Amino acid sequence: MLLAVGSELTTGETRDTNTGDLARSLSGTGVDVLWISALPDRLAAVAAALSGALAAADLVVTTGGLGPTPDDLTREAIAEVLGERPTVDPELAGWLRHLFERRGLAFAETNLKQAWLIPSATAIPNERGTAPGWWIDRADGRVVVALPGPPGEISPMWRDWVLPRLHERGLGQERITRSYRLAGIGESAVAVLLGEELLRADNPTVATYARSDAVDVRISAVAQAGRGPAELVEEATASVLAAVGDHVWGRDDETWQAVLGRQLAEHVWTAALVEAGTGGSTTRLLGEAAWLLDARTLAADDPTRPLPSLAERARKEAGASIGIAVRAVETGEDTRVELAVAGPWGVSEASQTAFLGGEEGRRRAAIAAAAFLHRLAKEH
Ligand code: AMP
Ligand code: MG
Repeated sequence: MLLAVGSELTTGETRDTNTGDLARSLSGTGVDVLWISALPDRLAAVAAALSGALAAADLVVTTGGLGPTPDDLTREAIAEVLGERPTVDPELAGWLRHLFERRGLAFAETNLKQAWLIPSATAIPNERGTAPGWWIDRADGRVVVALPGPPGEISPMWRDWVLPRLHERGLGQERITRSYRLAGIGESAVAVLLGEELLRADNPTVATYARSDAVDVRISAVAQAGRGPAELVEEATASVLAAVGDHVWGRDDETWQAVLGRQLAEHVWTAALVEAGTGGSTTRLLGEAAWLLDARTLAADDPTRPLPSLAERARKEAGASIGIAVRAVETGEDTRVELAVAGPWGVSEASQTAFLGGEEGRRRAAIAAAAFLHRLAKEH
């Protein structure tokens, strides 16, 4: 995905030649360019385009908007989308001051923006200008490259710095990627179980990624030393599943709704849901599914009322195979989640503490409910 930033492009004053040059270079090495956009110097527009691009492509390259003036805001947009804070890198700041000194120019403090870095970025040296680029490694294996606007600055940066690194990443070679979706465990605990050796390997790569509905473990490989990517991915998969297989509920882009739907379909089961204190988060997570005959959110709940009776009642009233009851109670910083599932096997209960209160805790309560149902459907 290629994004050219600059209002001079969207007003038609300057023609965007950068993305075409980059597209030609990428296509020549076997990369499929999905989309090319030109964007005005507006933070919201650049941020929206970036997050869309990151959702769809393995590589996002931006050009322009790296200058020192307030209208150059590619760095701000990237930092916002990635949720990171830019800070002035002392080494880059020193280099920049030196450039001005060399030419006998006064150094305006606004120039320091060109010495910004975010934690996930590495500076791409710019031999012909004052704006270094950014190379950003995402935890999920995606790469963002931000380059300045002037074509004459871009070409050596691209040819001598960026392209060789992209080749190292298997640019243009067949890459096989597989994700496992985990619940009931935090990202850091997943990392501990996987171990440094696996997480630090270059090929296959294994990376964790905290998403709103799961912790994803992404395994990816390109051919190496006569071994195909599929074989390498299989090998890493065996290690990953041995370490965290108990927590896996889905694959790749699967949602809770799809996975639970498939499980319940195998049993020919339907379900009814009643939730309290959750603001309807479980209903939202499971969505409108044919197997979910009824979903109710109780506004007023009597916390002393036993959940099994709620689950049984939901089941009976809807004529469903399974009744699910979820109650979330904020306890200071965190959220206590109580669960009861009434099914053909009887009633199962669980309770746990979900990290954080408020909206975040309620969202996690819903995941706890989905994970409990998943486990019960697997056991019975
Ligand atoms: P910027 O880094 O956005 O300040 O861009 C600096 C200069 O680079 C602009 O004034 C343009 O002359 C040139 N430039 C920026 N983007 C492009 C582009 N996509 N294609 C060709 N030239 C560009
Ligand atoms: Mg500009």
